[in-house]
Amino acid sequence: MMLETNRLRGECLCRRVGYEVDDAFEYAMNCHCSNCRRATGSAFKPFAGIRADRLALVRGQDDVMRFGDGNHDVHCAHCGSLLYSQVRDGAYLHVTLGTLVDPPSIRPTAHIFAGSKASWFEISDALPQFDEFPTD
Ligand SMILES: [Zn+2]
Ligand SMILES: [Zn+2]
Repeated sequence: MMLETNRLRGECLCRRVGYEVDDAFEYAMNCHCSNCRRATGSAFKPFAGIRADRLALVRGQDDVMRFGDGNHDVHCAHCGSLLYSQVRDGAYLHVTLGTLVDPPSIRPTAHIFAGSKASWFEISDALPQFDEFPTD
C-alpha cells in the first residue's frame, strides 16, 4: 500500500497567489524576532519548515515579490501577504502557518528568539522558549 502524503493549500489575502505543500513539515515554531514581527505585523510568526522541493506555487507565479538577497521572503506583490521564506541556502522554506487554507498535522513546539519578543506581549503557554534558532 502506498502512503499518500496529504497536499495542503495555501494562499495570500487577495487570493491571487496560491501554493500547494506536502503535509510533511519537519518542524514548526513561533518566531518572535523583530524581523518576523515586522514582516507579519504580529507579535510573532508561526511557521513550519519543509524541504523546498515539497512546495509549489500553483497560482500567481508572476504576482510574487521577493524581499531580500539570497535567503529571502516571498510575498504577494498585490496584497503583501508573507507566504514563505527561503532559508538555509535555498534548501528549506519556512511557510507562514497563517496562509495555509488546510490545517497541517504539525503544531508549533517552541518559541524562538523569545529574548527579542515584544515587551507588550506575554507568552502564556508552556512551550519551551529559546533565545535563537535551536540547532540540532
Ligand atoms: Zn495577494
Ligand atoms: Zn523570525
